[in-house]
Amino acid sequence: MSTATYESLLSARGVKKVYRKGEVAVPVLKGVDFNVARGELVSIVGQSGSGKSTLLHLLGTLDKPDAGEIYFDGRRTDNLGAAGRDLLRNRHIGLIFQFYHLLPELTTIENVLSPVMIRHSVWSYWSKRREYQERAKELLETVGLGHRLNHKPRELSGGEMQRTAIARALIAEPQLLLADEPTGNLDRQTGEEILDVLRRLNTERGLTIVMVTHDPNIAAGADRTVHLVEGRVKSANQAAA
Ligand code: ADP
Ligand code: MG
Repeated sequence: MSTATYESLLSARGVKKVYRKGEVAVPVLKGVDFNVARGELVSIVGQSGSGKSTLLHLLGTLDKPDAGEIYFDGRRTDNLGAAGRDLLRNRHIGLIFQFYHLLPELTTIENVLSPVMIRHSVWSYWSKRREYQERAKELLETVGLGHRLNHKPRELSGGEMQRTAIARALIAEPQLLLADEPTGNLDRQTGEEILDVLRRLNTERGLTIVMVTHDPNIAAGADRTVHLVEGRVKSANQAAA
């Protein structure tokens, strides 16, 4: 393993992904090389269909590449079995998406607690429930939702739903947050408020964030932007050249 792997929290080496539609092979990622340092907030931009979500899913161990390697915190992740990937993701990687994916019957705080409730046995959750509830409240206050603990998703605005999803993604205290078009369903001002929340989590808590977006204004809020072009990652200067 090279030293770069240890310095980076996350890295992709020569990652390829091909989708098959019947007989036809559609190459989406053609050798992606990409490093994210600890504490960075990186945005990934690219045209619709350029493979941004595909790459994020691979980085987040939701899927496996056809070739190449992915490392998280010095460990290779792409060759882990399904159980190993689930364990890694549940403990260390938070995910948020364009459409929030909240459970409609649960309140805000219950949605935030749902990952730990699912993960633990009833007894183990019960014995730690105070600690988790305190953490959930604190996270909801951090994202500006301390006044909406007992609302159902249908009683929340889009921005409030995304704030809830961010708090839920952080309940297990992950080192990395992966965000797929987190502002894609929000108006511009609300999108910028969500970006502010992510920015604050990054600077105040040192949370490493990789954010996919097609919005250049949102991308500009990151420390660094990489462009996904023709199945490969180009740095901002390369893409401009
Ligand atoms: P982006 O997020 O940049 O819009 P995606 O990663 O979602 O792009 O998709 C990249 C390409 O791969 C698109 O052409 C899409 O149609 C195709 N694709 C994505 N997921 C699948 C899948 N599960 N099966 C087949 N093709 C897929
Ligand atoms: Mg996408």
